[in-house]
Amino acid sequence: MSNMQNSIALNERAKQLLPGGVNSPVRACRSVDSTPVFIEKASGAYIYDVDGKKYVDYVGSWGPMILGHRPLEVVSALVSVLNEGISYGAPIEEEIELADCIVSAFPSMDMVRMVNSGTEATMSAVRLARAYTGRDKIIKFDGCYHGHADTLLVAAGSGVATLGIPGSPGIPESIANHTLSLPYNDLDSVKDILNKQGDMIACIIVEPVAGNMGFIRPQPGFLEGLRELTHKHGNLLIFDEVMSGYRVAYGGAQILYNILPDLTCLGKIIGGGMPVGAYGGRKDIMIRIAPEGPVYQAGTLSGNPLAMAAGLATLKVLQQSNFYENLASKTDLLVSGLENSAKEAGIPIQTDHIGSMMGLFFNDAPVYNFDDAKKSNLNHFKTYYQGMRERGIYIAPSQFEAGFVSSTHSESDILNTINAASQVFHEMILE
Ligand SMILES: *Cc1c(COP(=O)(O)O)cnc(C)c1O
Repeated sequence: MSNMQNSIALNERAKQLLPGGVNSPVRACRSVDSTPVFIEKASGAYIYDVDGKKYVDYVGSWGPMILGHRPLEVVSALVSVLNEGISYGAPIEEEIELADCIVSAFPSMDMVRMVNSGTEATMSAVRLARAYTGRDKIIKFDGCYHGHADTLLVAAGSGVATLGIPGSPGIPESIANHTLSLPYNDLDSVKDILNKQGDMIACIIVEPVAGNMGFIRPQPGFLEGLRELTHKHGNLLIFDEVMSGYRVAYGGAQILYNILPDLTCLGKIIGGGMPVGAYGGRKDIMIRIAPEGPVYQAGTLSGNPLAMAAGLATLKVLQQSNFYENLASKTDLLVSGLENSAKEAGIPIQTDHIGSMMGLFFNDAPVYNFDDAKKSNLNHFKTYYQGMRERGIYIAPSQFEAGFVSSTHSESDILNTINAASQVFHEMILE
């Protein structure tokens, strides 16, 4: 490993004060037998660690940085907010503007409520679905991650998948029992459950494009089937678009697949790197939220000026013509380059992408669900992660995460990345 003195020293100190040395588990890099690099600064497609090493970044703060780091538009929007005031806990005009932007982009949403994280958005959407239907049970899918609320931390993806734990201690069985988790892309198992207990199910929550068990696209008919079945059984359909919203398309997966869920959860990109989440949907559902209705949900910093400004500035740039086309063709170059290099080196991989959201499994069979994903070669992934990091390519430290390309990645960044991957794939065959 190259010089990591400063990161190692900081990690030692962090471990004394923060559990695992981090404030979110996957950052600790344990599943890839590594210690975290501490970041000093970032610009465009690059991040720089505290030992002066530069990386091409494909994590993008786990999704939000679709414009790359420190885009001018977002920085100047934040600076002007700082000159006015940081937080008031009272209404501001920018909340309406961001809500307008969101509602105009997502055809299923009439109204929206801002919160501070994706976790809050999904937790609140499920509460609302339960209140609206008067039912307690919910259906989710194995390997989908919807934040860390008690109800949703059953057979979850992201860090839960990375650490290989089935759920989490601290969640009462009486709560977990209300959550049924089924295989992704498997409509028959949904049909079975709904036929037996459809009238007890408040909602189905799904990542319409999965990104927290690695990247997995919905198979043809899966989302359509969920919409039909939930209509039939009176369950609400919740699209968790915290990752896919504004990522796979300006109006999220629901625009791509032309399906209107009842509720949608957003986060990540709509905050432009500031802590934000949002949930919204049909008016007759949303008016059940306090103070309009009885379903309680609140937030000291919800709709705060910095987050609203960063989000708005980001969404404005995304509206530029050809923004998504350019990003998709760059990502296509990367993904097909990785695939060809692996093939040439004789390493079986599965790659895929929608827009700038991408994935790579060290797997010799196509991956349709979490069970398939878990059959990936985790030793190969470890070698890949370490080899890429050594070569200045920063990817998520887990086989069970998606990758992201930003508008600031250049063609030469991408060609360098493919070149680095090719070297690492060749090293792998010698293992
Ligand atoms: C990131 C993510 C969340 C959780 O968002 P936080 O802001 O980390 O709480 C929920 N759902 C999906 C699909 C996500 O990708």
